[in-house]
Amino acid sequence: MSEKYVEMWKSIGMDIEKHNILLNALGQFYTSIYLSQKNRPKKMDYFDFVVSEIHGLRIKELNDQRAEGKKVIGAFCIYAPEELAYAADASMVGLCGGADFSVPDAEAVLPRNLCPLIKSFYGFKLNGTCPYFQTSDLVVGETTCDGKKKVYELLGELIPTYVLEVPHKPDTQRGKEFWFKELEAFKAKVEELTGNKITAEKLKEAIELINNKRKALKRLSDLRANSPSPISGLDALLIYQISFNDDPKRFTTKVNDLCDELEERVRNGVGVAAKDAPRLMISGCPMAIPNWKVHSIAQATGATVVAEESCVGTRYFSELVEPKGDSVNDLLWAIVEKYSQIPCACFTPNDRRIKNVTDLAKQFKAEGVIYYTLQNCHDYNVEAVKVERALKAENLSMLKIETDYAMGDAAQIQTRMEAFLEIIAGKKA
Ligand code: SF4
Ligand code: SF4
Repeated sequence: MSEKYVEMWKSIGMDIEKHNILLNALGQFYTSIYLSQKNRPKKMDYFDFVVSEIHGLRIKELNDQRAEGKKVIGAFCIYAPEELAYAADASMVGLCGGADFSVPDAEAVLPRNLCPLIKSFYGFKLNGTCPYFQTSDLVVGETTCDGKKKVYELLGELIPTYVLEVPHKPDTQRGKEFWFKELEAFKAKVEELTGNKITAEKLKEAIELINNKRKALKRLSDLRANSPSPISGLDALLIYQISFNDDPKRFTTKVNDLCDELEERVRNGVGVAAKDAPRLMISGCPMAIPNWKVHSIAQATGATVVAEESCVGTRYFSELVEPKGDSVNDLLWAIVEKYSQIPCACFTPNDRRIKNVTDLAKQFKAEGVIYYTLQNCHDYNVEAVKVERALKAENLSMLKIETDYAMGDAAQIQTRMEAFLEIIAGKKA
């Protein structure tokens, strides 16, 4: 891909040399982790293609749209209301933040004992190797966790950054009213950025566009509850990750095409792992592309990952925006209601998530839960206590893994997972 896009990358201010190193490393990583999998669904071809062009064709597409006057908004969190971006004819894309590659650059500025996701995204902007950052007209952050909140202040020195203030008690009426006002302010910001008025009609269309994407992802997710699962955890994770970068309409069609194939597989009893492979659910911090660490280790142990209770997973697509009226206000309230249900560990109390983890584990017939927390993520780390208690009450085992993006502890994690699988097997016997 590199040769044909060099001029485009230069034009958006990327560090070509450093970016080449990144692309080569990613290409090798992808080949060894993804393309080596056996018995993948044929329709994964599209998603392999998207990955191969994730810094190429998709960036060209976005920049072609920009040349026509459309705007691109970059985001990090599923609390960023993409419906408002699309209602103003802008695109919203996920920014790079899932690789160790950019962490050393960030650590030259930021404290080292900070969440790797935060260091990774800040490093990607600093070192000029994320084309999504370079293509964004605005970055939208949110006051979810403290680390992110403070780094957005620094990020704002490098790229226009708008920070949404999210209520930390989103279930309360006061919290919802507060969020409504924040959405109104963000709507005004997006209108100013794009020069387009967000009308009720446009917002309704955008809600439908994103609802369709969420429905397709949920359809895919639900198919994984079958035994054997018709798709690997790694492949499902990849699709969830790509959902933040691809064109939503095209992506939805491709996910539904894949689901047709997966339904056929389910009818024929075709799976990707042995029928008796232990079923695991991953719960915890988001796994931004190309963070495939825990899934690839789990698959190497012979387990099959059947669900992700994660923002790159069920938290993103479980609920839809369901308007009860047709005015802009009604539609904004529907967005408030949907987003208030995202059970991020940043919020308190967060009983919704605790219940959700056990419900999902049962729905997906998970025999064990891998609780995944990034280092220095206090919210997910502390919340593990309550999650473990709730799982224990349902006689479900949990293994907590606290890690970063580097692969130095991969062998140790694999050994711990193997021991965990033995415990699960012992329970079954
Ligand atoms: S875990 Fe919380 S802060 Fe992170 S992406 Fe999800 S909602 Fe946003
Ligand atoms: S993983 Fe935790 S610390 Fe990192 S950005 Fe998300 S909420 Fe913040």
